[in-house]
Amino acid sequence: MAITFEEFRTAFQRNITTPQGHDYARLVHRWSPNEEGKPLLVVEPLLEKDVSWAIRYANLNNVEVAVVAGGHSFMGASSSNGGMQIDLRCVKQVYVENERFGADGILSVQGGASIGFFGWLLGGGAGWAMGKYGYAVDSALSARVALASGEVVTASLDENPNLFWALRGAGYNFGVVTSLKLRVEACPHRIFFALLAYQTSEFEALIAASAEYAKTQGGEDSLGIIYGTQDAFGGPGESMLLILYYHGHDEAEARRRFKPVMDIPHMPLRCGMEWLTAACDLVESTIPYTRRYADSTAMADMSFDALKPALRKCAPGTDKAEDEDEAIRLCKDIISEIHGKQEQILGLRDHRWGSVYPNGALLPGTEASYVFGDRYPRLQEVKAKYDPGNFFHKKHPIEPLKR
Ligand SMILES: Cc1cc2nc3c(=O)[nH]c(=O)nc-3n(C[C@H](O)[C@H](O)[C@H](O)COP(=O)(O)OP(=O)(O)OC[C@H]3O[C@@H](n4cnc5c(N)ncnc54)[C@H](O)[C@@H]3O)c2cc1C
Repeated sequence: MAITFEEFRTAFQRNITTPQGHDYARLVHRWSPNEEGKPLLVVEPLLEKDVSWAIRYANLNNVEVAVVAGGHSFMGASSSNGGMQIDLRCVKQVYVENERFGADGILSVQGGASIGFFGWLLGGGAGWAMGKYGYAVDSALSARVALASGEVVTASLDENPNLFWALRGAGYNFGVVTSLKLRVEACPHRIFFALLAYQTSEFEALIAASAEYAKTQGGEDSLGIIYGTQDAFGGPGESMLLILYYHGHDEAEARRRFKPVMDIPHMPLRCGMEWLTAACDLVESTIPYTRRYADSTAMADMSFDALKPALRKCAPGTDKAEDEDEAIRLCKDIISEIHGKQEQILGLRDHRWGSVYPNGALLPGTEASYVFGDRYPRLQEVKAKYDPGNFFHKKHPIEPLKR
């Protein structure tokens, strides 16, 4: 039976914003402006039943739905043009089930808890301590999922186990996950965290030392590099920011592990023992919000030769370019340069791991069958059971198996 908009609004009793609403710009904002859409409705559920009701209304009226948790995704995956945006950013309850706060235990989180948590986890969830604890999704014990019919089910090893399997990596394809139960590990000590800036003259040595470090990388440490067309103070120039993370409590051991990269001349922006929560916020709070253009990511072996042609295209001050079209063209150029290297090194259709990382490798036009590799047929079966009408199709849409 159809539901009219008036019936929907009366029973929903939560915020509904239209393009004329004063909060509309904030709600459609995404990490990168080119990922923003123009939905006709933005709904902000607070409870599971609100999510279910919004889905039922949209499905019965053929309204496209996009779900947003943190808004960090690529390909407009959480944005809609002309449809409904289900905005989970106001659903932020977190419960810890253990004897004392801070010990190992079970954590229950709702849809919008923390920035980007749900989208990040449902596509895998790679983080600094991944070598020790695995992907974030490995810690999932169960999920509540609002399906296209509006029915809400539990997915776990015991209930709907195939859906639970599918959620862990392709989780944005079957329904709206309204809450997750996770196993958590305590981190009662400070960890080593560093943010170091390197000048252009050190780039080649830094990439080589990082590749060397990767050969002996342990389960508790990781390294990331950000290239920027600014110097370390935000002035004209170029720089590379190195992020170092060691999950142990021994600073001397951390410095021993990272010696090859720390021996190269650099300017430390932050370097020492930090509480984990402080380290999580450091990157976003240290890097200024410049103009952004997200297109896709590429994976390749890390070598200076692979990166050099792309880096040479980054004129200092690119991010301040007056001509926006020119800046976007340059970004696309740089990305295709790296994609070209990726094809050359790995062979796009003959990837050595057989599939790619759903949160990361989003080449334009990448098909789900390529992303999920030999797991795709099983995902199609799960899709046929839980979302036969392909209602949730915004990111790597899975074609339901035809019976
Ligand atoms: C600056 C930056 C750094 C990043 N770093 C990392 C990293 O270190 N590790 C890593 O693994 N990834 C990383 N990513 C990729 C990021 O994890 C993915 O883009 C992820 O999808 C973002 O999740 P989100 O909730 O912020 O995004 P959103 O855009 O809100 O959602 C992403 C997708 O998940 C769906 N979705 C969101 N919530 C739900 C829900 N409750 N139920 C069902 N579907 C839902 C959305 O519809 C959309 O398709 C990074 C991205 C950026 C921009």
